[in-house]
Amino acid sequence: MSNYHPLTEAQAIAYARQIPQLFQPGSELSSQEIGDGNLNLVFRITEAGTGKSIIIKQALPYAKVVGESWPLTLDRARIESEALMIEEALCPDLVPHVYAYDADLALTVMEDLSDHVIMRRGLIERNQYPLFAEHIGRFLAHTLFFTSDLGKNQQEKKLQQGRFINPELCKITEDLIFDDPYRNSDNNNIEAHIRDAAEALWNDSELHLEVAILRNKFLTQSQALLHGDLHTGSIFIKPDSTKVIDPEFAYYGPMGFDIGAVLANLLLNYASQEGWSQDEESRSAYRAYLIQTVKDVWTHFEANFRALWNERGVDRVFATPGYQDYFVANLLRDTVGFTGAKMVRRVVGLAHVADIDKIEDAAARERAQRLALRIGTIAIRTNRQVNSIDELIALATQAV
Ligand code: ADP
Ligand code: MG
Ligand code: MG
Ligand code: MG
Repeated sequence: MSNYHPLTEAQAIAYARQIPQLFQPGSELSSQEIGDGNLNLVFRITEAGTGKSIIIKQALPYAKVVGESWPLTLDRARIESEALMIEEALCPDLVPHVYAYDADLALTVMEDLSDHVIMRRGLIERNQYPLFAEHIGRFLAHTLFFTSDLGKNQQEKKLQQGRFINPELCKITEDLIFDDPYRNSDNNNIEAHIRDAAEALWNDSELHLEVAILRNKFLTQSQALLHGDLHTGSIFIKPDSTKVIDPEFAYYGPMGFDIGAVLANLLLNYASQEGWSQDEESRSAYRAYLIQTVKDVWTHFEANFRALWNERGVDRVFATPGYQDYFVANLLRDTVGFTGAKMVRRVVGLAHVADIDKIEDAAARERAQRLALRIGTIAIRTNRQVNSIDELIALATQAV
């Protein structure tokens, strides 16, 4: 990594110019740093005349959100580019194409998706995306199945797993999701008006046991190559297209963690409707859409996953009658538990979500925060007893 230096906009243009077959020789290129994330630089390079454009995403050697006091490995750029390429091979329509990866500069050159919007923003604007559940259900089924022992040669899987040991980024998850929210940690970010609810989390030993069980699964269950950060800020969307970006947290972990990330972010927006819906009628209509999407994501995932298992399974022992049902039942329970954990951390932990934080009216924001905590904690508490996606939906709708 000796040649590493963060690019300026001018250097990003010079870099883009020397990539073969992207732009016309001598054409006029402009660059803009558009990163709104917490960890990286994102340059958009546009060619005058043709309007052709690409994205250069470069890792910084520290977390931008905290500053240089929090160093972070540049190897995450390799993990991100390799994960994107694996995902592209499995679901070519659902991720940006990668043109190039540069290990020295810790950067990935990829397809520009600026004609899409970040889904978190789309949901805050209360848009509906009828194809989303089918798309993300298929993404989850294919990426999780074909990187697991169910769909991949087990020796090859172990070798691939070795390329995705991601200790520094996993540590962020282990601390920020499974530890800090449940104790009085300096890393938490708690609004004064919900201090009582945060303290209740710290004193809830029944909840702590469930979180310890979930955390152990995150630490030890190498089921499949996860995206690892599959919130609605990592999804670009428009009515006819869904694209998953930003897999720098990718590692071999429990499948339910990725599915739970999607469901949690739908339910965080559900909770945030306290602040975004003007009237009761439009609120319940949008909530009904979100709840239906939660159900459809799981249903599409399960149907795709079972079909892959039946048609593309590589392991005779996993075809033992009853094993698939056992596996899927446990996967749903994990999914519900991780859904809850991902909701709680977004209310009291370090990194929040705009769906809730951007609500200006403090009373409405507080109602949204309390509702998200209620849904999240019930999901965590009951995860090991859940038998159907309808039970998650019932607990979410009854928590209102
Ligand atoms: P981080 O890891 O820092 O969160 P992201 O990969 O999420 O970085 O990208 C941050 C932002 O940069 C996105 O929210 C989006 O606005 C923009 N961005 C990232 N990738 C692309 C892309 N392929 N096309 C267009 N914009 C992108
Ligand atoms: Mg991101
Ligand atoms: Mg972002
Ligand atoms: Mg990221």
